[in-house]
Amino acid sequence: MEEVTFKIAQESKVRKKPSFIKPWLGLKYLFKKPVTIKIPYETIEPAKDYRGFHTLNWKTCIGCNMCGQICPARAIEMTWIEGEKRPHPKIDYGRCTFCQFCVEVCPTGALGFVESYMLTTEWKEEELQLFDWVPIPPEKFREIQEAHRDWKFPVERMEFNKETREVTYHLRDGTEFRFRILGYGLKPPAAKPAEKKEAEKSTEKQE
Ligand code: SF4
Ligand code: SF4
Repeated sequence: MEEVTFKIAQESKVRKKPSFIKPWLGLKYLFKKPVTIKIPYETIEPAKDYRGFHTLNWKTCIGCNMCGQICPARAIEMTWIEGEKRPHPKIDYGRCTFCQFCVEVCPTGALGFVESYMLTTEWKEEELQLFDWVPIPPEKFREIQEAHRDWKFPVERMEFNKETREVTYHLRDGTEFRFRILGYGLKPPAAKPAEKKEAEKSTEKQE
């Protein structure tokens, strides 16, 4: 194989000469309109089909975890929710890059997205819960998005009761979206001894 040689330019040849005028040239930008916006007080209308927050049709999600497997940011955790036969994805917006691979790969089209993209917090502990998102159905999210058109997250406040494991999303239209998390992972969470006994009792009664 032919050997390749590199020439390294002398520092004196690449170093720019100091200029006393150039630093002052930046002053002209003081009189130009800024290209940045003041989030969350100002917004930019996103393009149609902009890859924003996720939505989920809970009825058509089959809990296959293909979304979790393809996610390059490992932002998806399968979550078991009371009353649901299959686990559903929970998305960590601290990790998500909004690539929407998960939406593309979903075999049933249950996972979708809306254009809303703005999630700002003051980094208070209770606000950080907003980053943990079991997506709500698309109709509800679109309804809120159309009512406000400010492209903000549809949840104003989120409550998580550590004892009962109940989650309450306080939505921007004044309604609540509640569910109870039973556990995480691909396998159904093991029932606690007390719950097992209750389940056995109820099956005995039925017999
Ligand atoms: S959202 Fe789609 S890919 Fe993810 S678990 Fe549900 S059906 Fe499977
Ligand atoms: S949008 Fe991309 S990074 Fe975010 S959860 Fe889906 S696959 Fe992961």
